Amino acid sequence: MTIYLNGHYMPIEDAKISVLDRGFIFGDGVYEVIPVYSRKAFRVAEHLLRLQHSLDGIKLANPHSDSEWTGIIDELIARNAAQDQYLYLHITRGVAKRDHAFPSPPVEPTVFMMSNPLLTPPADLLHSGIACVTAPDNRWLRCDIKSIALLPNVLLRQMAVDAGCAETILIRPEFVNAEFVSGGGFMTEGAASNIFVVKNGKLLAPPKDNLMLPGITYDVVLELADANGIPYEVRKIAVAEVFAADELLLTSSTKEVLAITQLDGKPVGTGKPGAMFAQMYALYQDFKRDVMRV
Ligand code: PMP
Repeated sequence: MTIYLNGHYMPIEDAKISVLDRGFIFGDGVYEVIPVYSRKAFRVAEHLLRLQHSLDGIKLANPHSDSEWTGIIDELIARNAAQDQYLYLHITRGVAKRDHAFPSPPVEPTVFMMSNPLLTPPADLLHSGIACVTAPDNRWLRCDIKSIALLPNVLLRQMAVDAGCAETILIRPEFVNAEFVSGGGFMTEGAASNIFVVKNGKLLAPPKDNLMLPGITYDVVLELADANGIPYEVRKIAVAEVFAADELLLTSSTKEVLAITQLDGKPVGTGKPGAMFAQMYALYQDFKRDVMRV
């Protein structure tokens, strides 16, 4: 596997960074994940825009122009064997004496990119759907930043794994006049995915605010809904609506679109992937094919 580190391409075994890298010391950095189909990176402009938003959010200057990023992305794809890949792009605030405050003057950021072969969900998972659990969303208030500080997401995902499930759906607790509302709260997203509710033939999506990552796949799904006359609404989704859903859909760059057929041990709707999943999955595959052809 060939990786990119600070201007150089090399085998992953040769890649080394300092123990004083602020990514290691503080989780002080941001990242992106970009899927590659038939050796073409998917929605690069949108990923680079989100990267800029994350960098702005942590006050770190973008080390590269979009055309430089595209050059590195294309070169890394060319140097790796798989037709379908997914790229991780990590930028940290660099190597400096340990101090919470930013290094002054700024130091060179660390820029790392790697590629893995992309295996989209297999047919049996598409047919069965996945099981999920719910948990309180105990992350910070800037979940719109794609931060490499993923400890909350790691712990939340592990809750799903410990329960024999695929993902944890996060519920932001509700407070009224500083009082916790028992049984209240709103769905934000998954530990590493976005979640949609389907009710009475309508797709419901939580708003892209500071409490969730603005998913690239989320955007594609809403664009496809728009283009194909599928009714949808973007608004806060109460926890009760999640449990009363006809269908639940999970999206991410690597999982694409999956049906959630079990939640906290109970069936979602009929307990089988529903009509909205079937339609959206098919639309997504068509969309991918069309984009990759040009
Ligand atoms: N939310 C979180 C917390 C994630 O980690 C991811 C996966 N990167 C997503 C949503 C889905 O985003 P995307 O569709 O851009 O992969």
